[in-house]
Amino acid sequence: MGVNWITRGSLGWGTTPAPHAPCDRGLVAHYHGESRLNLRNRPHTDCWRIWRQVRSWHVHGNGWLDIGYSYGVCPHAYTFVGRGFQRRQAAQPGGNTSWTSVYLFVGGSEPLTAVQLAQLAALRSNLGGRGIGAGTSIHSRFSATSCPGPTITAMHNDGSLWAGGDNGGGDLDMAEAHWYSTYPLADGYSPQQVPAGQTRAVLFDRSNNSNVDRNNRYASYAFANRKVTGHVTVRVRRAGTTGAFGDNEPGRWYLHYGRVDGAPAAHAEPDSAYLGHMGTTSHLTLPVTGQTFTDQRMRSYVTAYDHDLEITAARVYTWQAER
Ligand SMILES: [Zn+2]
Ligand SMILES: [Zn+2]
Repeated sequence: MGVNWITRGSLGWGTTPAPHAPCDRGLVAHYHGESRLNLRNRPHTDCWRIWRQVRSWHVHGNGWLDIGYSYGVCPHAYTFVGRGFQRRQAAQPGGNTSWTSVYLFVGGSEPLTAVQLAQLAALRSNLGGRGIGAGTSIHSRFSATSCPGPTITAMHNDGSLWAGGDNGGGDLDMAEAHWYSTYPLADGYSPQQVPAGQTRAVLFDRSNNSNVDRNNRYASYAFANRKVTGHVTVRVRRAGTTGAFGDNEPGRWYLHYGRVDGAPAAHAEPDSAYLGHMGTTSHLTLPVTGQTFTDQRMRSYVTAYDHDLEITAARVYTWQAER
């Protein structure tokens, strides 16, 4: 697993005003506080809300010049940038210029997810490669505080906090999921558009994994180091029509699937090894089989030829996977 950065730019924050500092002894773990957050059972969009809220408390509540932490790692395996690399912290007094703080998005005694531990290890590895030392610590070693709570404290003490967890051999592990899509029209959502002559990754907004919802759509349905078998079905119609047959036939379109490296944007083109099937009717079903390797993902794409199309439904089903 690499670091899945959520940058200050994507948060709309600009460069931190915090001054440079070495912060090179290693990482110090923090948590949210004594009440549980339960983010592992909630959509990732809630993590964005919490990170903004923490910054608001620090800036407007405490009067600090920025969020106090350098980084935050959430249960969905993303790393939010706070003050960032080698900036003075407002996190662990006595270690604010010599250590780098990392906030873990949990509260109370709730557990960390396996992919959260994997992301913490990825962050530590990344920072290690840029000159941050291998030291590890927790907030309560610097001052009298309950932070980072009993679970993280116990895991720090037995070493498991920094051991990387079990990342399932890859990224966010949704490989057992049935994936459903997309954009329920009755709820006011627009179908996904595929202009004529262009290719779009099929976006999913529902699955049996709580990480996926309308505000946090995913294109990838299998992550690194998986053997995968299943089917994908996609329904389309001509853009701006309400029917699917007769006058509204979609013309030629291509449903294809295959592997992409890394985590490209949802609109990224598939690689040349993609397999697929040309159709002229409103829906196609394609068997999907393959193996993903390190830092690869499986995706499906629709290419529209004769008309602008709308994807009105998509589904990956009877999905099975193994490492
Ligand atoms: Zn703390
Ligand atoms: Zn999250």
